[in-house]
Amino acid sequence: MPVVSVAVPVPLPQLFDYLAEDATAADVGRCVRVPFGRGEKSGLILALPEAAGIDPARLKPVIHIQRNVPSLPPDWMALVEFTARYYHAPPGEAVALALPPGLLQAKPARAWLAACAIEPRERHHTCALPTLTAGQADVLAACRAAQAGFVPWLLAGVTGSGKTEIYLRLAADTLAAGGQVLMLVPEIALTPQLEERVRTRFPAACIVSLHSELATGARARGFRQALDGQADIVLGTRLAVFTPLPRLGLILIDEEHDASYKQQEGIRYSARDLAVWRAHQRNVPVILGSATPSLESWRHAQNGHYRLLRLPARALSSTLPAVRIIDTRRCRLDEGISPPLHEAIAARLERGEQSLIFLNRRGYAPVLACLACGWVSRCPHCSANRVVHLADKRLRCHHCGADSPIPRACPVCSNQDIQPFGRGTQRVETRLAELFPAARVLRIDRDAARTPARRESLLASIAAGEANILVGTQMMAKGHDFPRLTLVGVLGADASLHAADFRAPERLFQQLMQVGGRAGRAELPGEVLIQTEYPAHPLYHCLIRHDFDAFARMELDQRLAANFPPFSRQAILRADAPELAAAVDFLRRAKGETIPLAASKVRLFDPVPMRVTRLARRERAQLLIEADQRTALQDFLTRWLERIHALNAPRELRWQIDVDPLEV
Ligand SMILES: [Zn+2]
Ligand SMILES: [Zn+2]
Repeated sequence: MPVVSVAVPVPLPQLFDYLAEDATAADVGRCVRVPFGRGEKSGLILALPEAAGIDPARLKPVIHIQRNVPSLPPDWMALVEFTARYYHAPPGEAVALALPPGLLQAKPARAWLAACAIEPRERHHTCALPTLTAGQADVLAACRAAQAGFVPWLLAGVTGSGKTEIYLRLAADTLAAGGQVLMLVPEIALTPQLEERVRTRFPAACIVSLHSELATGARARGFRQALDGQADIVLGTRLAVFTPLPRLGLILIDEEHDASYKQQEGIRYSARDLAVWRAHQRNVPVILGSATPSLESWRHAQNGHYRLLRLPARALSSTLPAVRIIDTRRCRLDEGISPPLHEAIAARLERGEQSLIFLNRRGYAPVLACLACGWVSRCPHCSANRVVHLADKRLRCHHCGADSPIPRACPVCSNQDIQPFGRGTQRVETRLAELFPAARVLRIDRDAARTPARRESLLASIAAGEANILVGTQMMAKGHDFPRLTLVGVLGADASLHAADFRAPERLFQQLMQVGGRAGRAELPGEVLIQTEYPAHPLYHCLIRHDFDAFARMELDQRLAANFPPFSRQAILRADAPELAAAVDFLRRAKGETIPLAASKVRLFDPVPMRVTRLARRERAQLLIEADQRTALQDFLTRWLERIHALNAPRELRWQIDVDPLEV
């Protein structure tokens, strides 16, 4: 009787064999329901082995093979197997990650399984196209002149230079040639805006939008449309990289530097890196676009692995915003706002223009403290302070979410004079409303825009000119165009200059370039004012000159000297347990396991507590692994993790591996 090897979503590295009376090679790539332990699970058939790993007499039969959905194609299976291999994840968990939950259930047919009718479509655009700038025309010509097949392009174009128009023109070429386009965007918040633009441009195309906030049924339906080859354009966030695309002709990755392409829990994959792998696998071009490319991609372009395309000018007539530094050591701040920034906001109000105050810290104040006894609002579960949220009168931990009412008096000494220290967006919003009583002040952060609908309505009211002053976190930095926004004031940026993470300056530069790019997008010139105590810092000087190249050169020189990525490859083994000693001890044992394997090509560091050591009542530690070559790191991890799986970890300890970590 035929045997099927099934990837079952459990944290074990192997496949599981079952008997399947009528299984054929056509069932490879089909979802299946199998008995597992004392219950049932849904999995995916990965292979039909010649001989089972164990005596067939001991195998159980499958319960149901889902044959009313086409089997997943071999290239999709290869993508998932690569994901499991590269990120050292159990194959069943990689399958569960890549398949929409509704599809994996492998239950008999349901409404969403009904295939949509395929109507013959006119695949050419019908609307009038905008005139290309000379820069856009050059970029397009370069792409179109390239040979067919896999070409990785890095499209570096300042904010407002018209990268999206390049994406749309290339997508039109691909659609006209009968291909499918995969378009990745970093943020769910950006999909409706882009989706609208894509739909307007390609009214006849079948456009599928995929992101994690979609209902299960809608996600499964979109996946199914892509699998059937009906979808012409798949637009989505990182999980869309796992969409099956039988006619794939082009991959577009917008804002390729964005950290949200890297999943930070479960299987810590990078959708950007997997998309490039996929383009190579399917032999199609891939465009990585950004105003501030990641230093990894920039380095690839410098050494010729990627081809560099540049869009230096803004598409609309406006020039880049003027960036100025305000030396806060020389002025008195009013709740963080300097006199020059105050004047600049007042001038915008007078002219009926909008200002954005950027501060990457939510809440009213980062901590509540008692000056009499020294009590601070520590989180009982984390090594972090609970943040004062005056808007809903709570003390809330931004790490674990624990919250409680704001006490009226110090819980230790009953002193009534307890004070919020430092400032977040709510405090700045409050003060701005006092300073400019005639202005409408609007705050945009994760608290104000808790749901997609709320976020949309906030953005719509800004676009309609219903706010004069915006206060926002990095949520405001991305993508949105507000034609009357001409001033961006940056508060509290200095903290990232001296952070322990070597990527902090790169992130700060990207963020400030992005948020600065919000100023002056239409006809009105923009201005960016950065408040700092380090006015001579070279990072700010690169910003003033809009000189990404100089910044990248400076950072890459420092990374080279320290042998940090992209000049080396890293992985992190993290462990967490109720006691820190248990986590550190486990990592120490893991490090000990390497001695017989330790090749000179791989360096292991000592286990250290993580920066936020205690999170949600668990103590966390990590061990950094570094190698000069990717293959050396991968070979090592494969053999080493086998041994770690065999280590007798205490029951309450959890561990994970993070390949190419973004936060070290
Ligand atoms: Zn006290
Ligand atoms: Zn907490």
